[in-house]
Parts: sequence; C-alpha cells; structure tokens
Amino acid sequence: MSEPLGRLLTDLGERTTYDAVAQCSRCGYCEQACPTYVAAGREAYSGRGRNQIVRLMIEGKLDDPKAAEEALSTCLLCGACQTACYAKVAVPDIILEGRRSLRGRTHWLVRWATRLLVENPKKFETFLKFGYALKRAGLSRLARPLLRWAGFSILAEMDEHVEESPARLLDEELAELRGRGEAKAWSYFAPCGPRYLFPRVGVSTWKSLTRLKGVGRHAENLCCGLLAYNYGDLEQARALARRNIAKAEAEGSEPIVGDCSSCVAFLKSYPQLFLMPNDTAWRERAERFSARVKDVIEVYGESAAALPVPAEVVATVYHDSCRALNGQGLKDPPRRAAQAMLGESYREMPGCDVCCGGAGAFAFSHGELSDDILRRKIANAASVQADLVLTSSTSCLIQLARGLRKYYPDAKVLHLSEFVAKAFEERHGA
Ligand code: SF4
Ligand code: SF4
Repeated sequence: MSEPLGRLLTDLGERTTYDAVAQCSRCGYCEQACPTYVAAGREAYSGRGRNQIVRLMIEGKLDDPKAAEEALSTCLLCGACQTACYAKVAVPDIILEGRRSLRGRTHWLVRWATRLLVENPKKFETFLKFGYALKRAGLSRLARPLLRWAGFSILAEMDEHVEESPARLLDEELAELRGRGEAKAWSYFAPCGPRYLFPRVGVSTWKSLTRLKGVGRHAENLCCGLLAYNYGDLEQARALARRNIAKAEAEGSEPIVGDCSSCVAFLKSYPQLFLMPNDTAWRERAERFSARVKDVIEVYGESAAALPVPAEVVATVYHDSCRALNGQGLKDPPRRAAQAMLGESYREMPGCDVCCGGAGAFAFSHGELSDDILRRKIANAASVQADLVLTSSTSCLIQLARGLRKYYPDAKVLHLSEFVAKAFEERHGA
C-alpha cells in the first residue's frame, strides 16, 4: 500500500484528511464545474461523489473498492470543483489521498523512470534520445502493437498522441545561452516537460526572461516530484523536494521561475509534503522556497507594458491550465499579457477555464473520456474562429495540439513563452 499524507493544507488551515473531507456539505454546487461529471453524468464522477467515496473509505464503510478505484482514477485533478466550492474543500488532494490508500505499489515503470531521473539523469537522457531517434525514423510506430501486447499500452498511446521528438534536449540548448559573471536576477527551474519534450518552450522562456529581467541562472534542478506525488510515491516526491530546496538555498535568493504550470503549482505546494510533526525544519525551508517560486505567466502579467506587439496579429484565445487557474489562482496575468500584445485580436474562448482532458497521463490512460472532454474544448476554440490558442502547461500543449490536429486544423497552440519570445525576436532579432 502507498502511504497517504494524513494531513492536508486546506484554505481553512491544516487539517487531517478526514476533517478536510468533512468540510463538504454535499451541496452539489461543484457538479457542473466538473468536466468528468458533465461528460459522464454520473455522481461518482463528480467532486461531491468522489469526496463521499473517500469519506466512506476512511470510515471503513466502503463496500466496493473496485468501483471506488474507478471513480477516483477518472478524476483529472483539475481543481475546478475546489474553485467552485464555497467551502473550498480540497477535493484533488482528498482524491489523491484516496488513491494512495487504495493502490498497491506504484507501477514499476514510473518507479524506474523517476529513480533513473534522480539517480542517473544522464542515463535517463540517453534512453530518451534513443526513443526520439526511433520516433524520428518512424520505428516507434511499428513497435506500438508490441508495446500494447506487452502491457505497455500507455507508452503506445503516448507515442501515438505526441508528435514531438526533439533532437537536442533543453540543457544542451541552455548551455549555449547562459550569461556569465553577472548578478543573477532570476533562476530558471526547468520542468520535465520543457526539459525533455518541449525544449523550444524552455529556450523561449529563457530568452523572454532575459529580455524582461536581465541575466538569470539555470537552477539545474531535478524533477519537481509531481509525477511521484500523483502516482503515490511520497518518499520519492519528498526526496526530490529536499534536493531542489537545498540546491536553491545554496545558490541565492532570487525568484525561481518555471514554465509548466503543473510543476510550478506543485513547487508552491512543497510545504504540504512536510506536515509531519518531526519535519518542522523541512517544512520551514519548503515555505521559504515556495515563497520564491513564480509561474512565468505571472512574470508576463507583471511586465505586460514591456511586451512587444507581434508582427502578425491573429485571432487568439487563452486556454487556462488547471494548475495555473485552480492550483495557483492565476486568471488575470496571462490575459493582461495577451491583451497588451494583441489588443482586440485577443478574444475570450467559451469554457476557457475547463480542463482540456490532458491531465498528465490521463489522456493516455482514459482515452475515450479524455477525448470527449477535448472535443468540447476544440469546439469552443472553433466557435470564436481562433487561429491561435495560448496556454502554459506541458500536458495542455500535448493535448491541445492533438485535438487541433484532429478536429480543427485551422488553429495551432503555443506556450505563452513561445509567443512572447517570437515577438521579441521579430523586433530585436534572436
Ligand atoms: S465539494 Fe464543496 S461544492 Fe462540492 S458538494 Fe462539497 S461542499 Fe458542495
Ligand atoms: S478535480 Fe476536476 S475532475 Fe476531479 S472531481 Fe474536481 S472538477 Fe471533477
């Protein structure tokens, strides 16, 4: 069994998981905000329903663990229920607690990949580059049936859904861009998405921050631990958090900026990993670390007046990453930036705040439900004739790119950093 956290940081303060669940009055106000409830129309697929399942688990009254597992595993962890809830019940954290109590050990592949990331990142990168080389040669497509047969259908789905196969990883790109010998105004925390899948996003963030804030440093961080946290390995998540905190403390006190909103939201929640009574020192260090963390979309919002107008202005909408909007409360900053750059060409997309169905590996593990949610999102982008969709999370980039290719190829998706960097480049050169 995975070990649950036992205590959560909620909007009403620190609570046991049971007390956090008990804050739910079962009013049902969150139901229409829940994408899986809207898609499936089932109580067990709503925030309220899932809360009650965890409550029954804690009270020892659960009579159908299999149905409970299904209800909890189909949650996107988008947090829309928590945002809609007057009592701010911490539904995603409660659901994760439920998953940890129900599940056995984390899948060996996740354990192997995260261990490799921590203990031997160079080897991890070698495996990854080998996989990308196979993909570019068209060979990974041939391996899909074999992967499915061998029980790795999630890898086959990933290969099918994700088009990216970068020839160079982000660390190699950044090695050429780093400024030397000056005081550093910011520290770039490279999330695994930009680092291993979308180096172009990390490069864009680096160039944009340099234009806006001066010389920065690369935090040379490890994975933030979100993957381990979501898949039930709290010790692995804590180990990664401790190493990232210690490294950041040794380097300075400048803001730590990341460009995948899921990862940034998790960095901001590090203190919750150390709520045990014997870990006060690490909790305080985590609080100091988290106070330094910023999502790059916050930086663009603060610097809106300094952002350039792009050479070509097209009808553009913004898709809120759930972990930016619901996890960090960042609704206005990316809009301030987009409006400053685009003027009237920026338009609000209906349902901009609803999850796209990406949610980490959810799109690969729950294909049908994910696609149902994705189709609604793409229909909303088409309804305002968008040519460009901007966003801020790795999983949204993957999911929206797939959805646009499939249902509305007139438009494309970019990370807000890519959009800002391109506009700077048009004005000032690379
Ligand atoms: S989570 Fe909040 S909104 Fe949903 S049923 Fe419970 S109290 Fe009501
Ligand atoms: S986190 Fe999202 S998918 Fe899960 S219950 Fe809440 S609104 Fe529904």
